[in-house]
Amino acid sequence: MSESNYEEKLTQRIIASIISVTGDENVMLHEPEFDGMEWNYVKESIDTNYVSSIGKFVDKFERDLEEYTGSKHVIAVTNGTSALHISLLLAGVKQGDEVLIPALTFIATANAVKYCGAEPHFVYSEQDSLGIDPSKLKSYLQSITTLIAGECRNRITGRIIRAIVPMHTFGHPSKIQELLEVCSEFSLTMIEDAAESLGSLYSQKHTGTFGLFGTLSFNGNKIITTGGGGAILTDDSNLAKKAKHLTTTARIPHVWRYAHDQVGYNYRLPNLNAALGCAQLENIEKKVDRKRKLFEQYKKSFSSIPEICVYQERPDCRSNYWLQTIILDSSRVNIRDRVLNIANNQGLQLRPAWDLLNKLPPFKNSQSMQLEGAQNLSERIINIPSSPGILKYENY
Ligand SMILES: *Cc1c(COP(=O)(O)O)cnc(C)c1O
Repeated sequence: MSESNYEEKLTQRIIASIISVTGDENVMLHEPEFDGMEWNYVKESIDTNYVSSIGKFVDKFERDLEEYTGSKHVIAVTNGTSALHISLLLAGVKQGDEVLIPALTFIATANAVKYCGAEPHFVYSEQDSLGIDPSKLKSYLQSITTLIAGECRNRITGRIIRAIVPMHTFGHPSKIQELLEVCSEFSLTMIEDAAESLGSLYSQKHTGTFGLFGTLSFNGNKIITTGGGGAILTDDSNLAKKAKHLTTTARIPHVWRYAHDQVGYNYRLPNLNAALGCAQLENIEKKVDRKRKLFEQYKKSFSSIPEICVYQERPDCRSNYWLQTIILDSSRVNIRDRVLNIANNQGLQLRPAWDLLNKLPPFKNSQSMQLEGAQNLSERIINIPSSPGILKYENY
């Protein structure tokens, strides 16, 4: 068989393997699912006239998230990006600082750094965890930084590297313990971008609860949704109070007086959205469960294609399998676009990973590690249909 015939055939086998699991070629990448108390709670929010910045669902959603994640404090906000923005500010990220983030992440991670007047500094993601490679990061920091008065100074730019934002890619926990060790060696503050990993555990502990802050997103494509929404997680009571204050226009609590003691942000999650969130959160374990079963089915379906690895959670981790991920063998990187074109044209929604952020115009002057391997990884990733609803309740 000629090389191009072989690739044509491989492309068809990949698409057929997906359809054999989804049972349909018209399938979205990720759809929300409203099969619990959503209507009741949203109706209650409207019936009681509490749709906006006050109401019982915001408090309930925060307390429910505390219980579910094990974080001491949760502050509900308008989206995952605003959660990152406030977390970075309260972690002390200032104008002219640098913040380490993976180049392989959604642009929100980098935008939030910019909102603080700081510069993202892009680091390498590995295939093993899909997150930051701790040992490469460590030797990189050894080669370019000096600790001065407890601060990590980049010798090339002269700026302070203040913080690091690991991201749990597609729901899979990063090597967070090793990254914490790098943080303590180089005096960095960790903020976890756990936007994609609600329901994912590392050593039995919820992602987003290892750093000084963790952030969640409840956008429509995430594992649970509030329409739009996010949350800040922290165990520090003092920082939690500040986060609440900053996200509610820094208003000084008072029965009738409007007074504010700093420039705050209008980032509070409306009660209407929180109502939806409370209902969604009641079913999160069912969703995780079906996503994990969906992974098993894809794994079986792809087992006869050696050029494809269906990405599987690492030992000692429980992944929520938010987006199911196949990774093409290095020798087959050139068929990705063909697979994407054919599948999307027939209604099967497949997506590539993000373009590495260091390639984008707003970040072209930002610092970065050598990223060839991460670039190659990003070009071999395809996300395949992942809605929990692909597996109906009765099918498992
Ligand atoms: C979804 C997401 C966010 C935040 O998104 P919002 O749309 O602002 O809620 C941040 N980081 C990553 C990695 C994400 O996937």
